[in-house]
Amino acid sequence: MVAPTETLTCQDDLTLENLLQTPEGQRIMSCIQCGMCAGTCPYGEHMNYPPRQIINMLRSGLLEEVYQSDSLLNCVACYACLAKCPRKIRLTEVLLPLVKEQMFEKLPEVPKELQSALQNTLRYGNPMGLSPLKRTDWIKSLGLPVRVLQKDPKPVDVLWFVECQTSYYPRGQENSRAVVRLMAALGIDFAILGNEERCAGECARLVGEAGLFDTLRERNIGVFRKYRFNRVVTSGAHAFDAFKYLYPSFGFDYPLDHTTTFFADHLNELKPKLARKLDYRVTYHDSCCLGRHNGFYEEPRALVNAIPGVKLVEMVHNRVNAICCGGGGGGMWLDTYYKSKGMERLSDRRVQEAVATGADVLAVSCPYEISRFEDALKTLGYEKKMIVRDVVELLAESLRE
Ligand code: SF4
Ligand code: SF4
Repeated sequence: MVAPTETLTCQDDLTLENLLQTPEGQRIMSCIQCGMCAGTCPYGEHMNYPPRQIINMLRSGLLEEVYQSDSLLNCVACYACLAKCPRKIRLTEVLLPLVKEQMFEKLPEVPKELQSALQNTLRYGNPMGLSPLKRTDWIKSLGLPVRVLQKDPKPVDVLWFVECQTSYYPRGQENSRAVVRLMAALGIDFAILGNEERCAGECARLVGEAGLFDTLRERNIGVFRKYRFNRVVTSGAHAFDAFKYLYPSFGFDYPLDHTTTFFADHLNELKPKLARKLDYRVTYHDSCCLGRHNGFYEEPRALVNAIPGVKLVEMVHNRVNAICCGGGGGGMWLDTYYKSKGMERLSDRRVQEAVATGADVLAVSCPYEISRFEDALKTLGYEKKMIVRDVVELLAESLRE
């Protein structure tokens, strides 16, 4: 886990050229070339230039060779290298995106799936390429009220930033319905941005598309400023990271929670409402953003353990050692590319470990993981053995009717 005191926010003018003049750049120069980063990287064996070597080449002024390679397309921004580095060098969100930015300019061809996700995000504000006007369609069949600030702009306690997967993707919308039921059960005064919300842009930034990230950040901050609210709660683990680390230097200064930490903070009020016994054996997958990057290991487990009837079992790799689902840093849109290179999907590796626990539910807390793990279970023939549920879905299922 990265110590909260080491929170680093992205700076407007941070480039590879001026990086070494910054304290972070000095820290990079303190690399002892131990190789922990390369050894711990889930795709390290597929990189011509793993992080240790990139630093070595940065020191020798030979980065041009790195830009010519597609090594860093294999970086799924899992924070494992940062978590294990004895010098706490911020590879994942500082050095690697800056190098990726240069690499992108020189890549002969950006893999198609990734290119279209980035183009869609620029054009429509979501990687699926769906109309912003459809962002709130999931509310229609809900049967519970959800206030949209554009229509009803009076001040609100919680601004819930829903996120793209949980707004558009049918399976993600189940997560959103669960959040509404939990908020309603707790009597929380909440509202959403509705069609004004756009992708938070964390994946664009970590894949090296700084310009796209800037556009999304400016747009979202402009919309935040139109309304009055006390805190932001988001369903997106990646949106959480964007707001916590990448938005503050541009004026985002609101108290912030992920839905998991928000409901964990309300656990005392929530517990008496969890009346339905669920006879599930559950194993929890630590999301890279919430776990390794922010240290939220116990909050989701406390929520799962609060559900009557549930038994929580751990995978061999858990907490800081959890295996990434492969969806971060653009990896969500690189599966076809990885397959063409003969690389194993990390989500396949992870669900095999989950199935080995004997659990019947794989619990997650990042919307990307639902689709990745459901797909992996299907591909590997485990779909009858295990289901995937977000922690908020399990909580909502246990709510008293
Ligand atoms: S783990 Fe840290 S100190 Fe070791 S080689 Fe990697 S960046 Fe350098
Ligand atoms: S962030 Fe993860 S995938 Fe990227 S270089 Fe570090 S360990 Fe490898």
